Amino acid sequence: MSERKTIYLCLAHMSETGEEQKYVKEAFDTNWVVPLGPNVNGFEKDLEAFVGQNKRVVALSAGTAAVHLALLACGVGPGDEVCVQSFTFCASSHPITYLGATPVFIDSEPHTWNMDPELLEKAILDRKAKTGKYPKAIVPVALYGMPYDCDKIMAIAHKYGIPVVEDAAEGFGSRYNGQVLGTFGKYGVLSFNGNKMITTSGGGALITNSDEEWNEVMMYATQYRESYPYYQHEKIGYNYRMSNICAGIGRGQMTIVDDHIAHHKHVQALYEELLADVPGVHIHKQPTTLAPLTHKPVYDSNYWLCTITLDPDVRIKGQENAYKEIIKTAVGGAAGVIHVAESATTDCQPNENVEALRVFMLDKKVEARPVWKPMHKQPVYQGCPAYINGISESIFKVGMCLPAGPYVTDDDVRYIVDCIKEAIVR
Ligand SMILES: *Cc1c(COP(=O)(O)O)cnc(C)c1O
Repeated sequence: MSERKTIYLCLAHMSETGEEQKYVKEAFDTNWVVPLGPNVNGFEKDLEAFVGQNKRVVALSAGTAAVHLALLACGVGPGDEVCVQSFTFCASSHPITYLGATPVFIDSEPHTWNMDPELLEKAILDRKAKTGKYPKAIVPVALYGMPYDCDKIMAIAHKYGIPVVEDAAEGFGSRYNGQVLGTFGKYGVLSFNGNKMITTSGGGALITNSDEEWNEVMMYATQYRESYPYYQHEKIGYNYRMSNICAGIGRGQMTIVDDHIAHHKHVQALYEELLADVPGVHIHKQPTTLAPLTHKPVYDSNYWLCTITLDPDVRIKGQENAYKEIIKTAVGGAAGVIHVAESATTDCQPNENVEALRVFMLDKKVEARPVWKPMHKQPVYQGCPAYINGISESIFKVGMCLPAGPYVTDDDVRYIVDCIKEAIVR
C-alpha cells in the first residue's frame, strides 16, 4: 500500500483544463501586471453574473479589505458600535476596530450556529438605551457556509434603519430562499483566500447595490484619487484593489465554482450518511425549513467546511494527554510564523476529548481543526459589549471541522469516518 497523503481541511483546486493559467498568461502577454485590467474587470462581471440581483461587484485584495470598506461606506467611524456575530473568524470583527469603532458581539442560534436574531434586537435596543445611539451596522456571518436567518435579520435591520454587511466569505454560493448570500444586505463580502470555495491565491470582493456605491467603494479601494492631472486627495483611501494576475486565477476558478459547490455538498451528504450511526458524534446540518409558498428548502449551504460535535462523555484514545504540552509548531494556517504560547491551555478551550481527537486524526494524516473560538472569548476583545446566550461557547467546546474541499474523495470520507470510529474508546 502506498503511503497516505495528508487530507487537508480545504485546499485550493485549479481547473483540469488550466483556465486559470490561460488568463494569467494573457495578463503577462499583454503586460497587464498591475492592480487593474481586463482580468479584474472580467472577474467582476463573472461575479455579478453569478450573484445575480443586478448587483455591482468590486474585486479587492482580501475579504478583510471588503469588510473594512463596507463598514467605511456605512459611515462607521470612531465612537460608533457595530453588531457582529461573535462565532466567526476574526476578519469579520477586526476591521470594526480599524475604524476606531467598537464591536458589539452577538451570540448564535443553535440550529444555524449564526447570529441569533432575538439577541440582535435585544442588543440594538440595549445599546440605544445605554449609549443614546443605534449601532451603525449589522454583520451576520455565514459560518462554514451556513446561511443566517436572512428574513429575521433583514426585518430587524429595516425596523431600526441599520445597514447590513453580510459576511459571506465562507458562504460563497450558499443560498437563502434561492437567493445567493451577500445580495440581501447593503453590502456583501466574499473571500477568495487559498482555502475558500474558490481562490485567487488571496483576494476578496464587495457586492454593492448601485453604480454610485460601487464608485465610492472603488474610490476608497484605490487611494481616493480625485480626477486632476496630479494626485489630489480629499479623503483617506486604501490600496485594496485586486491584482490583474490574481483576477486571472479568479476568472479561471469561476469556470469550476459550481463543481466545487456540488462537491462540498456531496462530501457533506456522505459524512451525514456514514456518521449517522456513530454514537456521540453529530454532524452539523442545515435546517430543513421549507418556504411556505414554494415548499422549497429555505437553507442551501455550500458546506464550505463540514463540522461535527462530540458529546462530552465520548472517550477518545490519548485523551489523558490532551493539552499536556505547549504547542511549538504553527497551527491553524498561521503561515509558518510561530509565536510560542505561554501556556498549554486557556480559560476557554475545546473539551479534552475534542483535542485528543484532533491529535489522533493528525496522527492518521487527517487535518481536523477546532471550530472558530467566539470573538467575545478572545482576550483582544475583552471588555467589548456582548449579548450572549452560551450557544457559541458551548459549540466551541464540542465542535470540530473536518476536511471538505475538492480534493476530498469518497474514499477519503470513508477513511476519515473510520478514523473517528477507531479513535473512540469502546
Ligand atoms: C476568510 C474570511 C474572511 C475574509 O478573509 P480574507 O482572508 O481576508 O479573504 C472574512 N470573514 C470570514 C468569516 C472568513 O472566514
